[in-house]
Amino acid sequence: MSFTSNSATSYDLSGVERARKWIAGPKSLLIGGKWLPAVSGKTLDTVNPATEEVLTTLAEGDAADVDAAVDAAEAAFNARSWHGISPHQRTKTLLRIAETIDRNAAELAAIETLDNGMPLWFSTAVVAMAADVFRYYAGWPTKIMGSTVPTDDSTFIYTLKDPVGVCGLINPWNVPLLLVPTKIGPALAAGNTVVLKPSELAALSTIRLAELIQETDLPPGVLNVVTGYGQTVGEAISTHSRIDKVSFTGSTAVGKRILQASAGNLKRVTLELGGKSPNIIFPDADIERAIDAAVNGFTRNSGQICSSGTRLFVHESIHDEVAERVARITAARKVGDPLDPANFLGPVVSGTQLSRVMSYIESGGGDGATLMTGGERIEGKGYFVQPTVFSGVTNAMKIAREEIFGPVVAIIPFRDEEDAIFQGNDSTYGLAAGIWTKDISRAHKVARALKAGRIWINTYGESDPVMPFGGFKQSGIGREFGAESLAAYTENKSVQVRF
Ligand code: NAD
Repeated sequence: MSFTSNSATSYDLSGVERARKWIAGPKSLLIGGKWLPAVSGKTLDTVNPATEEVLTTLAEGDAADVDAAVDAAEAAFNARSWHGISPHQRTKTLLRIAETIDRNAAELAAIETLDNGMPLWFSTAVVAMAADVFRYYAGWPTKIMGSTVPTDDSTFIYTLKDPVGVCGLINPWNVPLLLVPTKIGPALAAGNTVVLKPSELAALSTIRLAELIQETDLPPGVLNVVTGYGQTVGEAISTHSRIDKVSFTGSTAVGKRILQASAGNLKRVTLELGGKSPNIIFPDADIERAIDAAVNGFTRNSGQICSSGTRLFVHESIHDEVAERVARITAARKVGDPLDPANFLGPVVSGTQLSRVMSYIESGGGDGATLMTGGERIEGKGYFVQPTVFSGVTNAMKIAREEIFGPVVAIIPFRDEEDAIFQGNDSTYGLAAGIWTKDISRAHKVARALKAGRIWINTYGESDPVMPFGGFKQSGIGREFGAESLAAYTENKSVQVRF
């Protein structure tokens, strides 16, 4: 599955009206199967980043609401209403969730677009993948199994895979509809109960999806949703003594905080953090394909993707030619209203994010990189920025070292294979990497040498739940997707019988 183009996708604009109708009116917390206001009665505004208009209000939860959600999740876990039932039944429920996403796809995609500015072509693809992720995890409940262990005749030893318990799941704003199934899919498949916290900047699609999930037969209390700020709700989740596991996707800075906070009761921790991924083009590559994928690799979702290929390494013999072509294609990518299918890029998520992106663009120019295209904020309402290409960048510059999380690429020349590997690995991050070459031996050699959790050869940015995802170094701890993700939501128990 790849999210690469806005040209081939068909759009269902009928969802926009339904989305606007649903968005009107304040939103609540989901606790124990009921939609409730925050205990404090507080609310917070959520804004459309394309227009800067307030869309609606979210309940501003805090530690008291997290306590109530944990009570509900713990009660559901102890009642065995979910992990005590047949695994076939859990499969059926997860499939029902996938079906309800498919049935409501146009509305969900439009909610995401209005709330976080994701272009409709992209949110449409994300919703389709969200359903597929639930379908993938629906296959697992009947396949999570322990083993028998060889012993002498006097004893019998076997292992069981238990669910961990109550899981606190914290998400960022960049692709909420994909990250909800990525977290609750394996948690629920393994029999856990959850307290889910979406980002305060883009919580609406999570709330709508939770409403739709409530209409399936998932028992009350198995899924709880608490909206609010990181410093209150997020902190309460990561420090909570009755939450057994925390899985967090977001920035490396907050990830480190969560790891420390989790030490209180030794929570199991999964962290999916930032990246500064190298995308390496060797001179023997299919240059046209490589360039097209490179541009998609940093402009999709306005560069607000953790695995964006933001360090584009190009062999010195073709650096200038590739930089020219990347700039030409990038300049032709339309930026504007994310509901208009003609636009490849929408706004970035907030004014703060826009200022951050602009300050990195300034630092690129100041450090001596060559601005090939873009570099300007688009004036008027909304947080729009031109997709921006810098060439002649060195790996020591700030724009090559720090995650920008905007549509900005740093093109960096390299000398040879060894230099590409050295520079590619010269980063505090290690989330993803791309390799473009027709030489199959080189491709595998370089893949083996790069320190990154996901490597693409002659493609970039594809995603499939069968393929584990996660980071080396400061890009995270643990893996999502694939069998590894189920292991992260289970405890191993060994049982011995003496005859
Ligand atoms: P963020 O770290 O600011 O926030 C993420 C979530 O954490 C939000 O829900 C926020 O409210 C909460 N939070 C903030 N402070 C907290 C605290 N002290 N304790 C607990 N929770 C807290 O990240 P963001 O700006 O929303 O998202 C962008 C970041 O997410 C980027 O760095 C990006 O690379 C990363 N990301 C990583 C992946 C991945 O799979 N590796 C995927 C998507 C995004």
